[in-house]
Amino acid sequence: MRITALCLLMSAAFVCVPLQAAERPVAIAIHGGAGTIEKSAMTPAQERAHREKLREALDRGYAVLEKGGSSLDAVVAAITTLEQSPLFNAAKGAVYTFDGHHELDASIMDGKTRQAGAVAGVQHIESPISLARLVMEKSPFVMLAGDGAEEFARSQGVPLVDNKLFDTKRRYEQLQKAKDKLKQERKDKDYQAAVQALPTPYKVGTVGAVALDKYGNIAAGTSTGGMTAKRYGRIGDSPVIGAGTFADNDSCAVSATGHGEYFIRYNVAADICARVRYRGESVAQAADEVINGVLTPVGGTGGVIVLDRKGNIALTFNTSGMYRASRSSSSPAQVAIFKDN
Ligand code: ASP
Repeated sequence: MRITALCLLMSAAFVCVPLQAAERPVAIAIHGGAGTIEKSAMTPAQERAHREKLREALDRGYAVLEKGGSSLDAVVAAITTLEQSPLFNAAKGAVYTFDGHHELDASIMDGKTRQAGAVAGVQHIESPISLARLVMEKSPFVMLAGDGAEEFARSQGVPLVDNKLFDTKRRYEQLQKAKDKLKQERKDKDYQAAVQALPTPYKVGTVGAVALDKYGNIAAGTSTGGMTAKRYGRIGDSPVIGAGTFADNDSCAVSATGHGEYFIRYNVAADICARVRYRGESVAQAADEVINGVLTPVGGTGGVIVLDRKGNIALTFNTSGMYRASRSSSSPAQVAIFKDN
């Protein structure tokens, strides 16, 4: 039997409220990057490790929502779990720059207030998403970069950590391979063209989350080490509000992953929410139009997680896989990596 109303005895009379109103939906979706992710290229142990970490991040975020916490808290809880894992390209698992260190980008946006915070090119911050939140809540600015962002961190009591904290053997080997490929490409190309020719796996990887809390507020956040072998202070889309992250209670919340230059030029996150807001499209339709209709024809690769205030979720990508997971009050936890799960 489906229960549709909740009835309470109040002042000697029964008052019934529709269950939908009594139980406000909560929802969360997360991603750990999109790209050339093939089942055949992963060992069962690697696949299991990724799935387990995604599930852990999802559960941490969902637990916040279940306890009545805010969508911002849920987004930060999920993202910090992934930032602390060497499996994903953010903080602990960040890729290397061309010069052999790590430069981290992150951003967060509150759909209720349209406040946002971002950090770009930070090198000594253990949790870039947490610093992005401090920028949003404790500074009059939206985006802080490099040394200035770290000075702000210090002023907020955030300890600076050694950049070596983000070192991993796997990413170091990936850098060497990327440099070899760049050298081959550069025989007849300049740096920019050589980077363009790098295979997609060197350009992608990021973590992100979008959430809806029981107060009807949505939020989005993204954190990344960016692109392997990046140089000249390259900043991707992840800390750019409207490109890699966007949230507005009147439309949707988006966290993106993919070839950042395309996501910036096509204003991907904001474009998806604009379609939801002005055209009345569903999050699934808007995400499909932008990822498959706009980005694919111009060669932009990647994906997005999108959510609206009703708890509708879209997990859309034009690559062979995207590490992803979702859960809402009306659908159980789901973790997936490849196109067909
Ligand atoms: N979008 C990130 C960047 O370009 C990378 C990624 O999400 O895969 O820095």
